[in-house]
Amino acid sequence: VIDRLTPERRSALMRNVKSRDTTPERTVRSLLHRLGYRFRLQKKDLPGTPDIVLPRHRSVVLVNGCYWHGHSCRNGRLPKSRLDFWGPKIRANRQRDRRNLRDLSTAGWRVLVIWQCEVKQEKALRKRLLAFLREKCRSTI
Ligand SMILES: [Zn+2]
Repeated sequence: VIDRLTPERRSALMRNVKSRDTTPERTVRSLLHRLGYRFRLQKKDLPGTPDIVLPRHRSVVLVNGCYWHGHSCRNGRLPKSRLDFWGPKIRANRQRDRRNLRDLSTAGWRVLVIWQCEVKQEKALRKRLLAFLREKCRSTI
């Protein structure tokens, strides 16, 4: 994949990716809502200020952008240009993700990580959410 974006354009794109109210996150929220689960958004007192928190289930759902969080799928591939710039940033994000996951787990929270590329497959996503909230599966990065 050739990176055709200018550095400025990519920076703008990354700012968008990083912003909280992304479409994949909205999709997951509305699905949870339809399944009858109630949740809170961005509990600031939890490690990493997780996106979706279900206090009654002591559970957290994280919706990760593939690029920004360095997923192993094709969307998570780094651009060939400016690799020196984005490489360390995304590595740092991944390190922070792992630390947050560990801290949440230590504090007794169950964590489900959903990747942006998984959100489009609604049937599979619904299955995973239900399995997780019925405490039948665990997920790590
Ligand atoms: Zn992905």
